[in-house]
Amino acid sequence: APRITIEDLSLAFRTGTGPFVALDRVSFDIAPGSFVSVVGPSGCGKSTLLKLLSGVYSPTSGRILFDGKPVEKERLQGQVGYVFQRALLLPWRTALQNVMLTMEVARRSMTRAQREAEALKWLEIAGLKGFEHRFPHELSGGMQQRVSICRALAFRPQILLMDEPFGALDEITRETLQNELLQLWQQTETTVVFITHSIPEAVILSEQIVVMSARPGRVVERINVPFPRPRV
Ligand code: ADP
Ligand code: ADP
Repeated sequence: APRITIEDLSLAFRTGTGPFVALDRVSFDIAPGSFVSVVGPSGCGKSTLLKLLSGVYSPTSGRILFDGKPVEKERLQGQVGYVFQRALLLPWRTALQNVMLTMEVARRSMTRAQREAEALKWLEIAGLKGFEHRFPHELSGGMQQRVSICRALAFRPQILLMDEPFGALDEITRETLQNELLQLWQQTETTVVFITHSIPEAVILSEQIVVMSARPGRVVERINVPFPRPRV
């Protein structure tokens, strides 16, 4: 994964009452393969930052660099996987077919059988063996969220962006998925940028915590978590 440099990034939304500064000159670095959490009060610009990192939004000013070079939207979109607070699965596709979706789009040189084999592998790692052919409405919320994480990973993104992926889950499911995510992360070279409202969750998961404040959205602190977690 590339080293990500966020340089003086600002975004002002146009609103009915004039421009609204959601992000104000945010700068920080994300080391390749690291796990970074972004915490802060509601409205401080966490989601906005993730949408800039994924190329959904363009900044008003400032830049995002990969290995020191400016990146275009298109390149961001090609390298980034996204997991939302609520699993956005296609209801008419099974768990397996949902996971295969990103491979159909991004990894076209694979045969159908190869895609299927890899999707099955991800689902097994995520503890969903036996549920591959269920439709989303036949799965619990936690299972659906696992499927959406598998779908993002199957795309083999260099950067995985997660916007409060476990926020809507019960505590037990959340703990299980936190552990699974850490295991998956340790097995890949993926850089993870993880939004959460929960400081304990940020401490458990990440190597670095970026603390933001609201009005305007700014980075106020960066905390390195001492983390002797082995990488496989
Ligand atoms: P974020 O920090 O991810 O942007 P927000 O608190 O700003 O989260 O919420 C984003 C949107 O999602 C808001 O419209 C909010 O009402 C809704 N939302 C957030 N958490 C929940 C939840 N647990 N249940 C239902 N809706 C939620
Ligand atoms: P967070 O994820 O930290 O809860 P967001 O990034 O969702 O915060 O939003 C940051 C601020 O920008 C909030 O005050 C929100 O109301 C505002 N905002 C987000 N999206 C838009 C938009 N499309 N237009 C105008 N204001 C927006």
